Amino acid sequence: MSTKDFLEKDYYKALGVSKTAKPAEIKTAYRKLARKYHPDANKGDASAEERFKEISEAYSVLSDEKRRKEYDEARSLFGGSFRVPTGNRTGGGFNFDLGDIFGGTAGDAGGGLGDLFGGVFNRGRNTAQNRPRRGADVETETTLSFGDAIDGSTVALRLTGEGPCPTCHGTGAKAGTVPRVCPVCDGTGQSSRNLGSFGISEPCKECRGRGLVVDDPCPACVGSGRAMSSRTIQSRIPAGVADGQRIKIPGKGAPGERGGPPGDLYVRVHVKPHQVFGRSGDNLTVTVPVTFAELALGAEVKVPAHRGAPVTVRIPPGTPNGRTFRVQGKGVRRKDGTTGSLLVTVEVMVPQDLNGKARSAIEELREATAGQDPREELLERAKEA
Ligand SMILES: [Zn+2]
Ligand SMILES: [Zn+2]
Repeated sequence: MSTKDFLEKDYYKALGVSKTAKPAEIKTAYRKLARKYHPDANKGDASAEERFKEISEAYSVLSDEKRRKEYDEARSLFGGSFRVPTGNRTGGGFNFDLGDIFGGTAGDAGGGLGDLFGGVFNRGRNTAQNRPRRGADVETETTLSFGDAIDGSTVALRLTGEGPCPTCHGTGAKAGTVPRVCPVCDGTGQSSRNLGSFGISEPCKECRGRGLVVDDPCPACVGSGRAMSSRTIQSRIPAGVADGQRIKIPGKGAPGERGGPPGDLYVRVHVKPHQVFGRSGDNLTVTVPVTFAELALGAEVKVPAHRGAPVTVRIPPGTPNGRTFRVQGKGVRRKDGTTGSLLVTVEVMVPQDLNGKARSAIEELREATAGQDPREELLERAKEA
């Protein structure tokens, strides 16, 4: 509310009471109308919202003895049809300071209620504070099994965020009471200091930037008007996500304010390791134990595939330990429909206890290869400078 509002608006008419109405009468009228036009009872009805705003504003002035007096004085001085000139009007008959009329307290009415109800009802003063605002981006985490990360999965995500207090609908005031415009910042929420030719603006300390102060705080939010709430949403995590990846889910962040769009949701994905398989980009990895004979003589070995029958890998004779074979099409499915590979690394297992026959066979092998020193070349090379 501003001085202009005082002169243009008929608060008595808004509450349907006479100019001589007693405070109790005003209160009763307000409560009756507030119940009737409360946004909870008129969901989506813009005219009811407007009306609720109007009666709330009227009540906030008429229920305050001092401000009611100021209002009455202003109206009797100029009549109900007075309109405050706008813009720079010079040379006219309006050469006075409205602040004088209200004993310097005209600014008391700053417009905070406009902010308040604007916030709740998607309308209000046409200032930066009241423009539609996009909701905040929200971060959350989820942990997937190895297989769900590869195949894609629908997960329940619990999101916690701050929103209007459900008890007081964000006003911060106890039921039946209305917040007061902050007298320090006149409801702007900003305090400005002039430093020579320029001024700096910072959030008002009295109201912590809100523009309103609450005398009877809502017990649920202790007057802040804000409450933490949590919701659970089901969200699809696409196939092929890797541990540590951040997935963006558009439009699932915090709701927008005053009709603004919602923010985005970012999900940090943790993937539980698998006992057998590893990941390397779109490829799956597996280490397969083999015998020395299989590498030396060649073999066909069965290796496990993720979510499917084992696949056969042909090991050619003379395969070195640690070689990796590629099995195409057994890896992670990509967005374009193609699939990565299964990378099979062979690792020689040295038997811990040998039976008699195996022992004598290996002893024979040792004798048969006695002339070959596998370290000969290494030792030679080590002599180089
Ligand atoms: Zn303030
Ligand atoms: Zn509350």
